[in-house]
Amino acid sequence: MEKNNIEPVIEVLKVNKSYTMGQEKLHVLKNVSFTVQKGDLLALTGPSGSGKSTLMNILGCLDSIDNGDYLLDGTSVLKRNANQLADIRSKNIGFVFQNFSLLSRMSALENVELPLLYSETKNSKKKAMEALDIVGLSDRMKHEPNQLSGGQRQRVAIARAIVNDPALILADEPTGNLDSKTGLEIIDLFHRLNKEGRTIIVVTHEQDVANECHRQLHMLDGVLQKEFFKKRKKPQISTDKTCEVK
Ligand code: ADP
Ligand code: MG
Repeated sequence: MEKNNIEPVIEVLKVNKSYTMGQEKLHVLKNVSFTVQKGDLLALTGPSGSGKSTLMNILGCLDSIDNGDYLLDGTSVLKRNANQLADIRSKNIGFVFQNFSLLSRMSALENVELPLLYSETKNSKKKAMEALDIVGLSDRMKHEPNQLSGGQRQRVAIARAIVNDPALILADEPTGNLDSKTGLEIIDLFHRLNKEGRTIIVVTHEQDVANECHRQLHMLDGVLQKEFFKKRKKPQISTDKTCEVK
């Protein structure tokens, strides 16, 4: 598979996000700032309700911000229109969710092929087979989701996320529905995809999973806490400035 030319380098600058529920305004992200370099494998941890999914939706260009800025590959998403954002999503970002989000009446192969059919890509079946091969499921391509284990379903979902060869993968609690052993296998797979040059952000509740990542960001009540690095490296930044892992 060829790599994409666009290298997403994420810069989140003093982002605020709130939801209005009736009379009440819920301030969900508070002055969140951080940078992700190409090739990072980053864990985003924090209790339920702390704003992790909200942040992931913003990173995935699925949701807007109240103020601040979000630069993807050097360009502010505020400068992109809806069509351009949809294009970025389909070409450059792969999404993985806790509940796998597979279509039940379709085979593993058809599920993986689906994003390519939307983008009218040539040789879609061959590309879907290649993606299933990368996740080690070539022998299960004709199985439907209910004929697969949880770990296998998540691997199909990961194959679907990488079939367009995106440079960035956003995974929101991808191990949340799996036992810990299967969860660590999924994390191993993310490591492999990361070594091939993909930038990966994984939301997780589990410290085991977070410990396997190069960087850890922790959210509490919509505020990004100080950063943890896997190896004993001196963080070169506060969460407010640019960060580079060397
Ligand atoms: P996490 O993923 O860390 O559990 P979320 O980002 O899903 O947290 O949610 C953060 C807060 O924002 C929660 O209090 C949640 O209820 C609220 N929230 C999330 N999405 C919406 C929405 N679409 N409308 C209103 N409130 C929301
Ligand atoms: Mg969430």
